[in-house]
Amino acid sequence: MPSSPRLAAIQTIQQRTTPPTPPIQKLDELWASDVFSLDKMKAALPKEIFKSVQRTIREGSKLDVSVANVVAQAMKEWATSRGALYYSHVFYPLTNSTAEKHDGFISPQGDGTAITEFTGKVLVQGEPDGSSFPNGGIRSTFEARGYTAWDITSPAFLMETPNGVTLCIPTVFVSWTGEALDKKTPLLRSNAAVDAQARRLLKMLGEKEIAPINSSCGAEQEYFLIDSAWLPLRSDLLLAGRTLFGRSSAKGQQFDDHYFGAIPERVQVFMQEVERQMYRLGIPAKTRHNEVAPSQFEIAPFFEAANVATDHQQLTMTILRSTAKKHGLACLLHEKPFAGINGSGKHVNWSIGNATQGNLLDPGNTPHENLQFLLFCGAVIRGIHLYGPLLRAAIATASNDHRLGANEAPPAIISVYLGSQLEDVFRQIREGRLSGSAIGGVMNFGVQTLPEFAKDPGDRNRTSPFAFTGNRFEFRAVGSNQSVAGPLVVLNTVLADSLAWIADQLQIRLNAGSPLDAAALAVLQDVMTQHGNVVFGGDGYSSEWHRIAVEQRGLENLRTSADALPVLKRDNVRELFERTGVLTPVELESRYEVYSEQYVLAIEVEAKLAVQIARTQVYPAAMRYLGELAGSLQLQSSMGLQVSPDTQQQVAAHSQALMDVAGQLQDAIDHPPHGTEAHVRHCADVLLPLMGRLRQAVDGLEALVDDNLWPLPSYQEMLFLR
Ligand code: ADP
Ligand code: MG
Repeated sequence: MPSSPRLAAIQTIQQRTTPPTPPIQKLDELWASDVFSLDKMKAALPKEIFKSVQRTIREGSKLDVSVANVVAQAMKEWATSRGALYYSHVFYPLTNSTAEKHDGFISPQGDGTAITEFTGKVLVQGEPDGSSFPNGGIRSTFEARGYTAWDITSPAFLMETPNGVTLCIPTVFVSWTGEALDKKTPLLRSNAAVDAQARRLLKMLGEKEIAPINSSCGAEQEYFLIDSAWLPLRSDLLLAGRTLFGRSSAKGQQFDDHYFGAIPERVQVFMQEVERQMYRLGIPAKTRHNEVAPSQFEIAPFFEAANVATDHQQLTMTILRSTAKKHGLACLLHEKPFAGINGSGKHVNWSIGNATQGNLLDPGNTPHENLQFLLFCGAVIRGIHLYGPLLRAAIATASNDHRLGANEAPPAIISVYLGSQLEDVFRQIREGRLSGSAIGGVMNFGVQTLPEFAKDPGDRNRTSPFAFTGNRFEFRAVGSNQSVAGPLVVLNTVLADSLAWIADQLQIRLNAGSPLDAAALAVLQDVMTQHGNVVFGGDGYSSEWHRIAVEQRGLENLRTSADALPVLKRDNVRELFERTGVLTPVELESRYEVYSEQYVLAIEVEAKLAVQIARTQVYPAAMRYLGELAGSLQLQSSMGLQVSPDTQQQVAAHSQALMDVAGQLQDAIDHPPHGTEAHVRHCADVLLPLMGRLRQAVDGLEALVDDNLWPLPSYQEMLFLR
């Protein structure tokens, strides 16, 4: 029998009953019922006003104050009719989290009564005190003003808690001086950049009618689900989101019996409630299944416009966490909650397209479309080659470092997987011999030589961080706990930049009298000669690739965040963001500071917890066990039994190591170096290795100490008892 708090947790878990299920509702009753959607607006707004709102959403035209006033009135009426007393500007600070400031609709009157009030001005703009949000030095606290401004392209919605309803308005968050303090503003700017450059290229290809171009995103979310009764007994899970100690369970994922297995009933009940809430909020939840590790699952929505998908992804994480609580479960979104089994990622499926030309990364099957596709795909290849390290930096967090390159997630080397057919096409382009030399001279490509694409032009490659999957790219290195905004901003920005480059090059060749097809293929050949090295179709997990990538291909392997974050300070990155209008140098610098600070804070919290758990929970248990051992050795020898003091010696040795390393770790925590970059390095190079050594001592003890005395729930209990 395990020690009593663990025993109590086991009893709690065994007595759990399924929470009452709400009445079954049909999809059309559920769908977007809590969203102030376009059709609700259409019904509530005068025709002209609605048209103006639509124009703003579709074409990005300015929203007029008089229009905003009418919209605010309709929105308030809808929300209050549903019981909302408060509204909230929701924004996305640089911390990967969601922030809210709530205000009442209430307006007290002179005669002692109260009415509700909500004007266009408060709909469009809010002013939360922004001083406590990390800003990387953009503002000093004495000029703490931060403004939120309504992002009309992302619909307002209702958040229901057990005894209240709040109207939520998605917003951007900017400083008094106009700098972006959030993740949404750059995302919107990066979309505008892609729109401008893609439009320019499409025009050069002869397109006349071009609807606004937008990026799209479908984000697959992996997560762990364990019983919440374990949390109070594991302060590491509770406060750091991952276990800092714990021996692997005898049974892990080696049987592959969990992946796509039958979903346990308790989990399915949880998932269904999550999906119901998502549907009410207009989030198109689409797939659910077990993942590789025990107690690991995945949920994926149907893709949406990147901006809306990003807001919906943040909401999805919130819903997962809060619903888990209601079900006596804990949803762990950390990238590596348990050592020794797979961690969790968030695959970001990304493309760009519009209403007139469709998906611009769809190969289609007519040669004309193929040329367009090849140029857009070439732009992606060029962008990823030039700015792979930036893409790596965009997903650099303390927690995501645990999975990248750990044979369960793609390596930290950013390469592009195209699938065999496309890889072959681009190889031919590089060699200047597309479809053989049917037409003759090396540069003499005719449209008729362009290949037709099969719909599924390649196999899947799960070892690639960035893979083409038929009509989109899948960025597989994003962490489960991260906002998808950062990676999307980088993808859109590098694409916009490369499209601009391609359009420039094309123009030069057209001006020199080259026909369009030949010019396009020549530009593509240049792209492939300069950037083809980033294309890789082999095993990304292999050590061979790690060597070749760096030594022969010249790609960077930025293993840790400490290596990756300084990329944000490179000149070419600063120039990229400035040129595309996505981030000013000040905004970029602030992001470096904030992300570095987040990294340091995360590791310092873990280090402090590790010392605390080791000293106050594990060491005392080891000492108690040593006492017991001493007693029983005495007893046994008095009975004339041959006894071995082996265990005693091992426990003593691990305990000694534990106290030594804990002392060193505490000392290292207490004496960080000055300066951001040095502090980050100190965490990566000093604190993390010491934590690793501390873990060895603690996990060594877990293998020896009497299970009755062991204070921490084991991996086996947490992963298999539910
Ligand atoms: P898999 O696990 O095989 O990668 P899933 O079906 O779980 O595939 O996820 C694929 C994701 O890609 C879904 O969210 C899907 O909607 C999304 N997706 C499909 N087409 C596009 C596109 N054009 N742009 C962005 N995302 C897309
Ligand atoms: Mg996937």
